[in-house]
Amino acid sequence: MNVLNFHCPHCQHEYKDELELLDEGELHHFNCEACAKHFVVLIKECFKCAAETVIVWPDTPTSEEVAVVACSACGSSFVEPEDLEEDT
Ligand SMILES: [Zn+2]
Ligand SMILES: [Zn+2]
Repeated sequence: MNVLNFHCPHCQHEYKDELELLDEGELHHFNCEACAKHFVVLIKECFKCAAETVIVWPDTPTSEEVAVVACSACGSSFVEPEDLEEDT
């Protein structure tokens, strides 16, 4: 069972374990329950090691900002491996 947590980037208010409600690979917009400011959470599952990484932005990220996100466990990027041939 993954227990993911993240902090509001504005006031560091802690959120945890509510992420099972959140879909992986989509931007989720929050209004902080502590400071009422907006922030954005993205959950990505690594293609290589299957670890889940939580990324938090204090504002809506650009596609460039999303593109540079990397796995917190193995450091690989989350670019879809569409060039890789499945060679089972
Ligand atoms: Zn906050
Ligand atoms: Zn990884």
